[in-house]
Amino acid sequence: MEQSYHEQLIEQRRHLHQYPEVGWTEFETTWFITQRLQKWGYKVYLGHQVIDKDSIRGRNENWVKEAIDRAKAHQVPEDFLLKTDELTGCVGVLDTGREGPVIALRFDIDALPVQETDAPEHFPNQMGFRSKRDGFMHACGHDCHTSIGLTVARWVADHQDQLRGKIKIVFQPAEEGSRGARTIAASGLVDDADYFFASHIGMQAKYGEVILDPYGFLCGSKFDVTFIGRSAHLGADPHKGRNALAAACSATLQLLGIARHGEGMSRVNVGTMHAGRARNAIPDCASIEIDVRGETMAINDYMCEQARNIFEGCAKSYSVGLKVVDQGTVCDLQNDHELVELLKRCAQKVQAIKTIRTRSDFGGSEDAAILARHVQSKGGKSAFFVVGANHLAGHHQPEFDVNEEALDVGFEMYTNILKEICLMS
Ligand SMILES: [Zn+2]
Repeated sequence: MEQSYHEQLIEQRRHLHQYPEVGWTEFETTWFITQRLQKWGYKVYLGHQVIDKDSIRGRNENWVKEAIDRAKAHQVPEDFLLKTDELTGCVGVLDTGREGPVIALRFDIDALPVQETDAPEHFPNQMGFRSKRDGFMHACGHDCHTSIGLTVARWVADHQDQLRGKIKIVFQPAEEGSRGARTIAASGLVDDADYFFASHIGMQAKYGEVILDPYGFLCGSKFDVTFIGRSAHLGADPHKGRNALAAACSATLQLLGIARHGEGMSRVNVGTMHAGRARNAIPDCASIEIDVRGETMAINDYMCEQARNIFEGCAKSYSVGLKVVDQGTVCDLQNDHELVELLKRCAQKVQAIKTIRTRSDFGGSEDAAILARHVQSKGGKSAFFVVGANHLAGHHQPEFDVNEEALDVGFEMYTNILKEICLMS
């Protein structure tokens, strides 16, 4: 591959790594992407053109406001911020003007609330591009994904005379927590896609390996549950109180005891609980955050139904009110066989790839599944693949880092995909 693409991959990745932004707050990141796409001649879609507002889950309005102020302070132009409708992410579209397929490539752009390690041997510390935002970090490699997406975008612009069809490059916000994909699916921007591709760097693949047909993507749903009781003094009026904390504790124990499903894997976790105000007062509020998973959508639906019964039952038995906020659902993913074969041909042409694995257990959830399923439901074909990397620590850890040669592999995979699908014969 050309040296200038390699240099661009590294330069962008190191820039993005310094300015991590969590889901729904990626204004500086979106501005960074938009400027470049426009320079290369893309039509850039922003705001409600990309994100269906009614489908948004897990968005903290205070964080969004803070992020907009931060973006302004960092010289992101006001007229651009206005165009975002306070929504992040963007889609660059390049229409070659020649008849051909519509291909959508998706890259996620969000970071995590993780404090980056200050260990001197950590590569971003060595090279001077560690996160400039305390408590936030690109600890899942989405800085790499964004950089690959942008470099692929430039390659498309450079080669548009040889290509046909329409290329849509989707920069998706809020992948973490499976929040962003559904909003892009609902916007209709990928409804006409004949092909959809997405990938992740690292995971269970080492540098030199790719996984072309991962399976075992768990379906999952998240709920924020608040029990609303009534406070009273424990000495004088215990009978007048309604104990929200007791309801939350009871619900937690019952949730962890949901009977397992006989047809496949299931998971349940109560990750946080916040309750009460004072030692001597009956606690009038308690909130818990719950995550359920299922090997199939049917198993996930079963877990959700059982969980909802428990929320309602516990609220009733402790005479407290109940508020349930659905924080989103992610589905499983099935690659189209035809595209697995296509990916195999693409991988064989990448020199750095020594091992091509097809079936391999993913064992996590991936928001791209929602977009992939959406495209398939409209008659298009989808595939998700994993680009191996030597990452020392696990994903979402303060020490997370990948060897940057892996970005070249990701870039070459996507340009090979485009050659297979959009090159004029
Ligand atoms: Zn990730």
